[in-house]
Amino acid sequence: MHPEHSADHLAQQFADRHIGPDQAGLQAILDALGQPDLDALEKAVVPAVIRTGRAARPLDLPEPVGESEAVAELRALAGRNRPMVQMIGLGYHDTVVPPVIARNVLENPAWYTAYTPYQPEISQGRLEALLNFQTAVADLTGLPVANASMLDEGTAAAEAMTLLRRTMRSKSSRFLVDADTLPQTKAVLATRAEPLGIELVEADLSGGIEEFGVGDCFGLLISYPAASGALRDHRAIIDAVHAREAGVVMATDLLALTMITPPGEVGADIAVGSSQRFGVPLGFGGPHAGFIAVRPELQRQLPGRLVGVSKDDAGAPAYRLALQTREQHIRREKATSNICTAQVLLAVMAGMYAVYHGPAGLRRIADRVHRQARLLAVMLGAAGVELEHDAWFDTLRLRVPGRARAIGAEARRNGVNVWVDGEDAVQVSVSEATTEEHLSAVLAAVTADRVNWGLAPGTAVPHSLRRTSPYLTHPVFSAHHSETSMLRYLRRLSDSDLALDRTMIPLGSCTMKLNATSEMLAISWPEFAGIHPFAPAEDSAGYRELIDQLSAWLCEITGYAAVSLQPNAGSQGELAGLLAIRAYHRSRGDEHRTVCLIPASAHGTNAASAVMAGMKVVVVRTTDSGDVDLEDLRAKVGQHRAELAAIMITYPSTHGVFEDSVSELAELVHEAGGQVYVDGANLNALVGVARPGAFGGDVSHLNLHKTFCIPHGGGGPGVGPVAVAEHLAPFLPNHPLDPGAGPATGVGAIAAAPFGSASILPISWAYIRMMGADGLRRATLTAIASANWLARRLDPVFPVLYTGAAGAVAHECILDLRPLTRATGVTVDDVAKRLADFGFHAPTMSFPVAGTLMVEPTESEDLAELERFVDAMTAIRAEIDEIAAGAWPVEQSPLRRAPHTAAVLAGDWDRPYSRAQAVFPHGVDPAHKYFPPVGRIDGAFGDRNLVCSCPPPEAFES
Ligand SMILES: *Cc1c(COP(=O)(O)O)cnc(C)c1O
Repeated sequence: MHPEHSADHLAQQFADRHIGPDQAGLQAILDALGQPDLDALEKAVVPAVIRTGRAARPLDLPEPVGESEAVAELRALAGRNRPMVQMIGLGYHDTVVPPVIARNVLENPAWYTAYTPYQPEISQGRLEALLNFQTAVADLTGLPVANASMLDEGTAAAEAMTLLRRTMRSKSSRFLVDADTLPQTKAVLATRAEPLGIELVEADLSGGIEEFGVGDCFGLLISYPAASGALRDHRAIIDAVHAREAGVVMATDLLALTMITPPGEVGADIAVGSSQRFGVPLGFGGPHAGFIAVRPELQRQLPGRLVGVSKDDAGAPAYRLALQTREQHIRREKATSNICTAQVLLAVMAGMYAVYHGPAGLRRIADRVHRQARLLAVMLGAAGVELEHDAWFDTLRLRVPGRARAIGAEARRNGVNVWVDGEDAVQVSVSEATTEEHLSAVLAAVTADRVNWGLAPGTAVPHSLRRTSPYLTHPVFSAHHSETSMLRYLRRLSDSDLALDRTMIPLGSCTMKLNATSEMLAISWPEFAGIHPFAPAEDSAGYRELIDQLSAWLCEITGYAAVSLQPNAGSQGELAGLLAIRAYHRSRGDEHRTVCLIPASAHGTNAASAVMAGMKVVVVRTTDSGDVDLEDLRAKVGQHRAELAAIMITYPSTHGVFEDSVSELAELVHEAGGQVYVDGANLNALVGVARPGAFGGDVSHLNLHKTFCIPHGGGGPGVGPVAVAEHLAPFLPNHPLDPGAGPATGVGAIAAAPFGSASILPISWAYIRMMGADGLRRATLTAIASANWLARRLDPVFPVLYTGAAGAVAHECILDLRPLTRATGVTVDDVAKRLADFGFHAPTMSFPVAGTLMVEPTESEDLAELERFVDAMTAIRAEIDEIAAGAWPVEQSPLRRAPHTAAVLAGDWDRPYSRAQAVFPHGVDPAHKYFPPVGRIDGAFGDRNLVCSCPPPEAFES
C-alpha cells in the first residue's frame, strides 16, 4: 500500500511513542551531557573494542511498521493457528477465564506493569492477591504453607525433588518417579537430576504396595490423579517411603482436590502442580503459575517467594515477602534454587478465580467435569469400548487396539483434540469448557453406533479418596461472587499499589520500560490463547512462524547462531546456557571442566544456576572501581586452568559500566579452554550498538521481560531465551513431545512446555517489528543518555559510585549513600520509603553494593518524569542535611517515619515536622497524591511469627 493510504501515515512512528523524550527533550539531555547527538554519545560512552568487527554492522531487521500494521500482521499469524476443543489433558485444560478477571487483571496495566513486591508498602494490593493464591493452594492441597508461584509444574516438581534431598534423613541419591507421570514433568526432572548426581528411577505404582518394592531412595513423586487419569489410593506406599526416612511429593490438580482427599491428608510432604485451569488460558503452554505447598516443618526450605503477614509501624497488619534472607540473591553459591522472576500475574488470576467462584462454585465446576466424564464413560461402555481404569476424576484412558490414530483423526475432524498414545490408547480429558456437543464429537469418533445420552449417576472417585475436609473457608472466598463486588475488589487492590501506570519505576537491572498496549493486544486472542502445547503441530503453524522470526531477530541482535525460547525466566536461561556449556565440554571428553568463575558483583541467580548445573563456583574479585579484577582473574584462571568450564559475566557490568577489558577477559578464559557466559539481562544497553556474540560471548540469556517489553507482571511472567554460538547449538534445550522445540542432541527440557511461555512472545515480536533496527538503536542510546543525565544531575546530591573510562555510566547508575549513612544514620531503606511519599517506586536497593541505590530510567521516561525524580531525590537530600544539622533526630525524621499513611495524618500528631511536610513534601501536588495504605513494615516480626495464608478477619480489627 502507498504510505499515503495507510492509517499509520497519520500516526507517529511507533519508536517515537515508545521513546519517552521528544526531540526537544532529547536535545536538552544531550546538551547537558555536552554531546551534539546520539552518534557522538555512542562514540564517547561505548568502548570501541565492543563496537568493532561484526558489531559495527547495523542490525539487519525488517523495515519497521506502525501499530495497526503490526497488529494486522499478528492477526495474520494468529489466523494460521487452529484453536480446537482441547481434550488432550496432560496438565493443560480448556478453562473459562472470567471476563471480569481477563479485562481487569490480565489486560490491566495496574496489574501487569507492577514490579515484584520488594517494596511492600506500595504493593499491598498484589501481596493480598498472592496471599489469596497461597491460601487457595494450601487449603486445596491440605498442606499449610504454599508459596506465591513457581514457573510451571515441571520445575515445581524438580524443586520439590531437591528440597527432599536437602531435608530427608535418607542418604540415598535415588529419586523415584511414578511411571504414570506427565511426560514433560519426567523430562524436566531428568534434566535437573543428572548434573546433581541424582539417580532418577521410574516406578510402577499401579499394582499398589504389594507390587512396589520401595528400595533405596530419598524421595518419591506420585501423580495424583495420574497422567493416565487413574486415581489410586497410595497411603500404604507413602507410609513405606516414610519408613525409609524418605519423602513424598504429590503432583496434583487443584480442581480434582475439591473432590478427592488432599495430599496433606494422605501423608504427602509436598504437593506441586499447575494452577492453569483456574482461569488462565492455555496459550500454547504458558505462562501459567505452578504451585508448591509443604508441611510446616519444611516451610523454611521452600524455593521462590513467600508472602507473609506482618505489621506496620502503627501495629496494623500488613503483607510483605517473608524470609527474604534465604533468597537466592543473598545466599548465592549456597543457594538451593535459582528462581527469581516467577509467575505472579498468573497466580493473581488463579487466586482471583478461586475468590470469584468460592468453595461452592469450584465444587460445582468439579462436579460437572466429573459428571460429564462419567457420562462419556458410560456411553463408551455401552459402545463396547474398554476403559483402562475405573477410578478417575476427569480423564479417561480408552483401550482401542490398533485404532488410536484413526480415532484421534476422526475426533479432529469433529473439532476436538484428544491425546493419542501410540497405536492402542486414547486419552480424553474433560474440562470446565466441555459441552455435550464435545462429548458427542468424541463418541462419534469412537463408535458409529447411535447412542442416546442418558444419566450417569454415582461417582468414579473411590470411597476412600472422597474429600470430607472443608476448604476456602476464609471470608474473602465468599465475599466477591457478584461481578460488581469482584470489580471493586480488584480496583481497590490495584489502587493500593504503584505500577508503571502511575510512576517511573527506576529499578536498576530490571529495565522497567513501556509495555505498549499494541504489543499486548494479541495475547488475549483465542487463536493464541486457545492452543494446547501438545496439539498436532499444524494447529500452531502461526506460533511456529512467529517463533522462527523472533528467534532469527534475537540472533541478529545478539550475534549468536541459535536461540531457544523455552526457558521461562532469566534464571532458567542461565541454567540452560550452563548446561549447554557442560554438555559441550563433556562431548569433548572434558568431564573434569566443572569450575565456573563468577565475579563477586554478579546477580545472585548466576551462582545459584551454576550450582544447579553441577558446577563449582569460584568467585573473582572486583576492583575498587567496580570492574572485574583482571589480576585476580588471571590468578584464578591459572589456578583452575585444567578444570575451567566457564566464566559468567554481566555486560555492561552489574555496576552499570561498560568495561573496556571485556575482550581481554574473554581471551584469557578462552585460552584456558573455558567458555564465556554473558548474562544478557543488561542488553538494553547493547541492542543495536554491540553484540555479545561478537565481543567474546559463547552464550547469553536475555530477559524478554526487561529489554523486550514483556511486562513484569508484579514478579512474572518472564521469558529468558538462551542464545548460543554455533558450537553450542547442538546443546540447546529440547522437548520429548515436540521435535521442533530443539535439537535432538540437546540437554533436555528446561521447562514443561516446548516453547515455554509462548503466549507472551507476540509482545516482544511486536516490539521489534515496530521499532526496526534504527528505532532499537535509538532506544538503547536514549536509555544510555537518560542514565547519564540522571547520573550527572544526581551526583551532587548522592554521589555516583562507578563510571567507565570516559567518566560515563551505561544504562544505569549506582548512588552511594554510605557516607551519608555513616554521618547521619539515614539508610537506603529510609530513602526508598520516603520516595513512596513522593509517589515514586524506589530504585534497586543494595544491589550489587550494600548501602547503595541503583537507578535505571530506561528510554521510555520523558524529561518531565526524569526531572520529577531528580526533584524528589534533591528534596530528600535536603531532609538528610537537616538531620545532619540537628533539626530532627533521625528516628523522628520524615525519612525514618516514612512512608506516611492517611491514617497517620488523621491521628494525633506528635512529630517534630509538619503534617504538610510528611505528605506533601516539595513538588508533590495534593491533587495527585498517592497515599500508601500501610506505614513502614516490620519484616522481622513477620518472620518470627510466620503467617502465610489469609489471616483470620479478626486480625484486621484493631
Ligand atoms: C533480572 C536478572 C537476572 C534474572 O532474571 P529472572 O528472569 O528474574 O530470573 C539475572 N541476571 C541479572 C543481571 C538480572 O538483572
